[in-house]
Amino acid sequence: MENCVFCKIVSGEIPSPRVYEDEQMIVIKDIEPKAKLHYLCIPKKHFTYLSDMDEKKADVLKHCFQVIAEIKNDLGLYEGYRVIINQGKHGGQTVPHLHIHLLGGEPLKDF
Ligand code: AMP
Ligand code: ZN
Repeated sequence: MENCVFCKIVSGEIPSPRVYEDEQMIVIKDIEPKAKLHYLCIPKKHFTYLSDMDEKKADVLKHCFQVIAEIKNDLGLYEGYRVIINQGKHGGQTVPHLHIHLLGGEPLKDF
C-alpha cells in the first residue's frame, strides 16, 4: 500500500528496529510511547480497519495474539499489559493500517 507509514516500516523503507518478526507480523516500539513500555504489533499485510473483519484478517489477528502471549516476557511485560486497537476516527486511529498497541512496564491508569 503506497504512502502507508506501517507498510514502509514493514518493507524497511522507513527504518525501525524490530523487537520481533515472523512471516506474518512485526513488533516495534512506538515512537511516542504512552507508557513505560509501548509496542506496536503490525501485521505485514496491509489491512486498514479492524471493522472490515473477515476470515483472513481474523487468522492474522489470531496469530498476533498467540505470538504476543508467547513473547510477553521477552518484551518485559511480565506483570501484565493492556491491548488496544484504535478503530476509525472516533476510536482515535491515526495510522490506517491495522495494528495492536501493547502497553505496560508499569501499572496503567484506569481509562
Ligand atoms: P493509532 O493512533 O492507533 O493509529 O496508532 C498509531 C501509532 O503509531 C501512534 O501511537 C504513533 O505514535 C505510532 N507511530 C507513528 N509513526 C511511527 C513510527 N515511524 N514508528 C513507530 N511508531 C509510530
Ligand atoms: Zn499499510
